[in-house]
Amino acid sequence: MTRSSTLVRRAGLAATAALMLVSVAPSLAVALDAPAAKAVVDRELDADYPHLDALYKDIHSHPELGFQETRTAALLAKEMRGLGFEVTEGVGKTGLVALYRNGPGPVVLVRTELDALPLQEKTGLPYASTARQTYKGRETFVAHACGHDIHMAAWVGTARALVAMKGRWSGTLMFIGQPAEEMVAGAKSMIDDGLFTRFPKPDYGFALHVGPSAFGEVEYKAGVISSNSDELGVVFHGRGGHGSMPSLTIDPIMEAARFIVDVQSVISREKDPAQFGVISIGSIQAGNAGNVIPDSAELRGTIRTYDAGVRARMVAGIERTASGVALIAGAPPAEVSIVEGGKAVVNDAALTERTGRVFKAAFGDRAIMLPAPGAASEDYSEFILAGVPSTYFSIGGLDPKALAEARASGKPVPANHSPYFAPIPEPSIRTGVEAMSLAVLNIMSK
Ligand SMILES: [Zn+2]
Ligand SMILES: [Zn+2]
Repeated sequence: MTRSSTLVRRAGLAATAALMLVSVAPSLAVALDAPAAKAVVDRELDADYPHLDALYKDIHSHPELGFQETRTAALLAKEMRGLGFEVTEGVGKTGLVALYRNGPGPVVLVRTELDALPLQEKTGLPYASTARQTYKGRETFVAHACGHDIHMAAWVGTARALVAMKGRWSGTLMFIGQPAEEMVAGAKSMIDDGLFTRFPKPDYGFALHVGPSAFGEVEYKAGVISSNSDELGVVFHGRGGHGSMPSLTIDPIMEAARFIVDVQSVISREKDPAQFGVISIGSIQAGNAGNVIPDSAELRGTIRTYDAGVRARMVAGIERTASGVALIAGAPPAEVSIVEGGKAVVNDAALTERTGRVFKAAFGDRAIMLPAPGAASEDYSEFILAGVPSTYFSIGGLDPKALAEARASGKPVPANHSPYFAPIPEPSIRTGVEAMSLAVLNIMSK
């Protein structure tokens, strides 16, 4: 995930979200005594924490890029086999599936990502990464700057707690280690490799993400929680020539400039103003010299939406604006390419409401219902679209004192994908294990 949903708390979108709260979950079992269950999980955690800490630091200092997570996957496979899970490796290239059958009952999916990012860690931590791998043909530093290492430690910790408490619940745990989340490719690759045909199809699913809010906090929201993300590319063709004689040319930079301005009217005049939609142009490449009009101009940008209908409308508007701009200039047609990225994650309403009640009972006012989705995107949506009603929630990872100081000084704290992002391990992992164990027990407890 590119940024935590905690960063964006806009209230104005509640109506949009409410429209999307369509529940497909089958009816759920009796409610859990959350404080009592949390006390049991905490006892397990007290015994397990040194093991989880060592595992976390090992993973943190050995990060691997998407579809190259072989060491990471082997490490997790060993952990899960040790707990009595039946483990299959190499699902969707480097993914793994770990099943624990414990009598009749629902199949519950718990997902962690395995991958890290192609950047150089600058946290200065004693266990900081110095790893390098090949990314798109070039050697690069690699770091767990999105916190997926926290997720993996919490995933193993949850498995350990649930196995220790196996007399209290019934059903099948399906723990999956998903590769290449950052490449928005791993979830689909696991599904295409038979995740829901070679293995049981889960009745419910859970995933968590650590973000730049206070550790100890758990954040959740029914309905849409992350955006559809599409990559946009536009090439305007013209006719190059001397900058002093523009009448002999067709100026692609003029086309690009007009497009960049006009495309925002797709947002302001074509899209329903109450619906979320963003078009940003982040790259413009054209020409080399001030007195030469180039042959072409290339733009790259991103399109973000929550709703598929809004997305379709925006894509149509972008294409029309690009061809209109080329027509005005008397230029050859523009080339527009739109590459679909992550699709919006839509949490199941009934499951999330029920999970939220347990979070409130266990964490009090540190369980926070988010009023609006974030602008980040995430490929967990593939599992939901394949028919697994889910709750994807966030946990905080930063020191509340440091956050308060940052707020007072107006200096932003390093968030996910920053080379300085450094969630505090113990409170983050503990909260992850507590929240995830309770979410699962809430579905499976006898
Ligand atoms: Zn990320
Ligand atoms: Zn992430």
